[in-house]
Amino acid sequence: MAQNLVPFLIVHRDPHGAPDFVYPPETNMASCVIASINVCRGMLRTARIRAVLVSLVREFHRSQPRPWYDDPRQGFRSLEDVTLTFINSILMVFPTVYIDDSIGSPSCLGAHPRREWRNFFHPREQSIILNGPRVRDMGTAAILAARTGNPSDHANKRFRTFIFMFANTFFHEMAHMLVTFLTQDLTLTPPNIGPRISGYSNGGIGEAGRYLETTVFGGTLEYYRDHSDDGGQPGIPHILTEGGVQRISQHSIDDIVSYYFHFPYHLEGPLVDRDSMERIGDHYPPVNLTDPMRWIVMDEYRRHCQKVDVGPQSALARLPFQPGLRAQAA
Ligand SMILES: [Zn+2]
Repeated sequence: MAQNLVPFLIVHRDPHGAPDFVYPPETNMASCVIASINVCRGMLRTARIRAVLVSLVREFHRSQPRPWYDDPRQGFRSLEDVTLTFINSILMVFPTVYIDDSIGSPSCLGAHPRREWRNFFHPREQSIILNGPRVRDMGTAAILAARTGNPSDHANKRFRTFIFMFANTFFHEMAHMLVTFLTQDLTLTPPNIGPRISGYSNGGIGEAGRYLETTVFGGTLEYYRDHSDDGGQPGIPHILTEGGVQRISQHSIDDIVSYYFHFPYHLEGPLVDRDSMERIGDHYPPVNLTDPMRWIVMDEYRRHCQKVDVGPQSALARLPFQPGLRAQAA
């Protein structure tokens, strides 16, 4: 039972970027966020994702003359060992999460502000920031879905798509977090860690999240507007490849949020020209991201960290299909 209790720290960030309060895990917003984190945690435990993260570490290793983990005093036996050490540290203590109301554009779902570290990698000292207004849309979707109580209706599918979307946002940020682990500091991602398919360019700078997505999904994850739906929608998840975009099936989304993992995701419907689609957040100005961990008040918040039951029978694990449930703090 004890290994099913995992600490989380979910902090709100106001429109000016100041962290101002901690969400108790039992609140609607925090429960939804932790539920999506837990789906991401499940992904990190699969053999396929572990193998891809090892490949990222190998790729990184080729461009590094003398990385810290090569020092025999660190005790690593292999690059697999380095990768597993990172994954296990994330599974034990998840990084601090900010629900960030200073992000103005829906095009940016999340980010990881890289922080230097020495001696010991503490995931809690690192953070992932999430788009506050988009998380609030997920919270609203949960309330509406719980009201109907019908898993196959529009409100419930919308809610599960939000859980899927944020689980995959965390997944993307894990690649950036891994680079922080490997570099220890603010080094840029090497250019060889970028999208694994042709047709993408990132100006000669790597993009570890895109490396992960293209290796696992065969393309990048994008959310396109459903013009028949309202502004509270997550957007329809698609995989973008050089040949066009194709929708991820609801069946696949439902499997993932039920912890039935398969990679790549199942696609359905026609392959569509990307220029005919409108991405959620298109036409917004670019986001200027800042690091919330610079705020000294964080020391105070660390004490508010609470353990949550993440076991297979927990409320958290059932929440995607029972949106009225809440995370249970120990
Ligand atoms: Zn990224």
